[in-house]
Amino acid sequence: MSTLTIAQASCADDYDPNSMPVAKARAFIHQFLDPVTGTLRVPVRSALGRVLAEDVLSPVDVPAHRNSAMDGWAVRGADLKDGETELAEIGASFAGRPFGGKVGAGQCVRIMTGGVVPEGADTVVMQERARSSGKSVRIAPGQKTGQNVREAGEDLKAGSVALRKGRIVRPAELGLIASLGVGEVAVYRPLRVAFFSTGDELKSVGTALAEGEIYDSNRYTLYGMLERLGCEVLDMGVVRDDPKLLERAFREAAANADVVITSGGVSVGEADFVKDLLGKLGEVVFWKIAMKPGRPLAYGKVGAAHFFGLPGNPVSVMVTFYQFVRDALLMVMGANPVEPVPTFTARCSTRLKKAPGRTEFQRGILTRGADGSLAVRPTGEQGSGILKSMSDANCFIILGDDTGNVEPGTAVEVQLLEGVV
Ligand code: AMP
Ligand code: MG
Repeated sequence: MSTLTIAQASCADDYDPNSMPVAKARAFIHQFLDPVTGTLRVPVRSALGRVLAEDVLSPVDVPAHRNSAMDGWAVRGADLKDGETELAEIGASFAGRPFGGKVGAGQCVRIMTGGVVPEGADTVVMQERARSSGKSVRIAPGQKTGQNVREAGEDLKAGSVALRKGRIVRPAELGLIASLGVGEVAVYRPLRVAFFSTGDELKSVGTALAEGEIYDSNRYTLYGMLERLGCEVLDMGVVRDDPKLLERAFREAAANADVVITSGGVSVGEADFVKDLLGKLGEVVFWKIAMKPGRPLAYGKVGAAHFFGLPGNPVSVMVTFYQFVRDALLMVMGANPVEPVPTFTARCSTRLKKAPGRTEFQRGILTRGADGSLAVRPTGEQGSGILKSMSDANCFIILGDDTGNVEPGTAVEVQLLEGVV
């Protein structure tokens, strides 16, 4: 982490809070993200979705023994002739049941995939290339010494790093760790994330709405996105636009969590008293990001906690979470490297309206056309309050700063919504 304070960094020459490019805001935030310090040792299965806090070293050679990659016969390469070779079959080596003896000149051993290659043998002839009479085996010409043999330690040498610290544990890692005979690993402790919604108009589910009121949906999308990342969530409910109540909520959130996320209250008009408040409680920068949706965004520290002030509009909350908060949380969780969610191109099947000078994250539906190529179309109405546009979507269509209107048939950048951790 840089020793730079947020205030110092925000005074850098090329910093314009009123027109902050997406990539620059991301890079700014990344300067301040260190992994949490607490770690714990857990049984392998409990590590699923957590981040490794130490390298996992292999205590054994993988594979542990020289073994066969094929069903066939284990032979001595020196015995193989240019023409057909005939060898005496003296035994068998099955996976888990090795042949105890030694293969001498003119001899071979029946072997199955995974079976230990017996002493004396160095080559496996696949069964399709040989014929057995029970006692003797006739081997077709064209074999190569050393073929179809997996050497001990070929995948991993004992003592070498099987998985690096910072790796997120997925099902493949669970299996890999188990394959080493390792029963426990060190992981970073779960991240505690507190969140609340701000707004006098917001009501929680289960209460009746008066005129002008709406149900709070942001606490539900945030809950879902945070749970999917494996965070411990602290839902602090709705806080009215009242400086005293907000101050109390911020203090409580920062005292109890590593990260505080709010929605609403950072747009023009509302930001002023929130700015004063957060200036008192910590160090926060307020941006207008050159993007749509999700223009207002605040980032900083409140006490020791990281703070993300997301816009109020429900789609903006999700877009800013995926574009800024997700990677940041993974970094604080200890993940390293944190790869941005990959993007790829697809043909856009409709015309898209787009003004240059900002990045748009339209909600899209990606399908495979009859010709096998990928096609994408927007979900329909793209208003930042229309949560259905997120629900109908399976991807973002990302239209970069320089892009203007998109004509049908043009290749556009696409980012999948599913499969993100
Ligand atoms: P704000 O950023 O507070 O000005 O809010 C922008 C828009 O988002 C307004 O129409 C709010 O009513 C709406 N909004 C803010 N918070 C929420 C929420 N938690 N759930 C649903 N809509 C919200
Ligand atoms: Mg508001």
